[in-house]
Amino acid sequence: MTRPPPTIVEGLRHAATVRGSKVAFRHGARSLTFRDLLAEGRGAAAALVRRGLRPGEVAAVACGDPLARIVAHVGVLLAGGVALPLNPDYREELATILPDSGAGVLVADAPLAERALAVRSPTLRAVFSTGPVGTGGADGPAGTVPWDEARASASPVPERRPLPEDAALLVYTSGTTGPPKGVPHTHASLVANLEALRVAWAWTPSDVLFLPVVLFHVHGLQNGVHGTILTACTTVIPGRFDAPGALATLDREGCTMMFGVPTHYHRLLEAAAAAGGARPALPALRLFVSGSAPLPPGTFERFRVAFGHEILERYGMTETLMIASNPLAGPRRPGAVGRALPGVQVRVDAPAGEPGEVLVRGPSVFPGYRNRPQANAAAFHEGWFRTGDIGTLDPDGTLRLVGRATETINTGGLKVYPREVEAALESHPAVREAAVVAVPDADLGEAVGAAVALREGAAADEAAIVAYARERLAGYKKPRRFAILPALPRNAVGKVDKSAVRRALTGGG
Ligand code: AMP
Repeated sequence: MTRPPPTIVEGLRHAATVRGSKVAFRHGARSLTFRDLLAEGRGAAAALVRRGLRPGEVAAVACGDPLARIVAHVGVLLAGGVALPLNPDYREELATILPDSGAGVLVADAPLAERALAVRSPTLRAVFSTGPVGTGGADGPAGTVPWDEARASASPVPERRPLPEDAALLVYTSGTTGPPKGVPHTHASLVANLEALRVAWAWTPSDVLFLPVVLFHVHGLQNGVHGTILTACTTVIPGRFDAPGALATLDREGCTMMFGVPTHYHRLLEAAAAAGGARPALPALRLFVSGSAPLPPGTFERFRVAFGHEILERYGMTETLMIASNPLAGPRRPGAVGRALPGVQVRVDAPAGEPGEVLVRGPSVFPGYRNRPQANAAAFHEGWFRTGDIGTLDPDGTLRLVGRATETINTGGLKVYPREVEAALESHPAVREAAVVAVPDADLGEAVGAAVALREGAAADEAAIVAYARERLAGYKKPRRFAILPALPRNAVGKVDKSAVRRALTGGG
């Protein structure tokens, strides 16, 4: 397609027309062609509409099986609904998200369906219970509608064709700084951001994408699933990530790209080392992309040596979609997230070269949190979205992130940006990754606390690592509390859970 389609729905119809028999998504032995995806999606849309899903209404999807999730998600869009992706493991979260979102319908695996019914959200009219696509599904708990049966028996419904300005997606933030907040995006917003990625990464229908990230977050769902539909490429989705299995899949499927989080790259490095250290061949692979969390420069460098590829680091968030990317051609700078994507404007609220809050403007910035006038008043400044990330801009527009504004440590009046201390610790040869947080300190108010995870087989004592960091940093940045953990605590999307790190360091709440 020369011009991007106006909506994700039109993109799918186009892919099903011009590349109908091509595999869109593969998971293990099962796959969906673009034609299958449109047909299955239409069946799903019919089942949803028969149960009263109205255009513009929110429908939640929480299927663990990736193909089942994609079909249900596409069904919501084809029905003109707004898709709300949920983690199938959600529990307490449902009590906030279901009523706040106004979801009228839910498609979920049986355990989540049951938990959702218990919430008694006033807007929720129908709960479908799913099993993996093609396995016949499961009998759901009482009060739920069997999804496979509903799809098979629903007579077709007239096509709904959402407009670009119609809402397509409602994603809840992970809620690390309070209750989760709903982030809406229109079709136009999703399409504009994917068009920027398509150009920036030279993404074509010939690409085969390896996608080991979760599909209930913008990384997997928007970049991965919607990106596959709009570019008409093929995407391979593994089950639980195991690095030796991932290396075998990358090779066997002739993957050309991978979208991962830093943890995936650490694990691939360990697998390559365990396999004897010979460089994995992977002749088709052209691009490893990392995002959602900082990629330690040491990982970038070790991966370059072990795999012969410079990982391309990019930066984005739920509210803005993708913001910046290192270049496809030209130097990729370790520790930097690159320059603003085409159509996106980035500025840093500080004098040139100094750290300040990163502000973003552009066609993929969301219009504001659902039902949160107060949060919205604070989140925008003269049309710019305040990301809450602190960064610096190089004269050529390259952005470097140093931490979240709320994570900046104020130690005796001096500011410490966690990323700087993390980078110093991560440059120690035994350290795989580090997380730096503020810990309470009777004298200084806050002090620097650090937890590290060591590289496989590495041994180092605490005092040696702290001394090493101290040699590279001013004294006030030295970690006063320190721990070596078997692994850093992470949430479902691969970000370090800094509250859990703080608890590990302080032994309390
Ligand atoms: P989410 O909305 O869950 O995608 O989280 C967005 C946040 O993840 C951003 O505001 C950043 O703090 C962080 N993030 C995303 N990509 C990167 C990156 N490449 N480096 C550092 N932090 C990142």
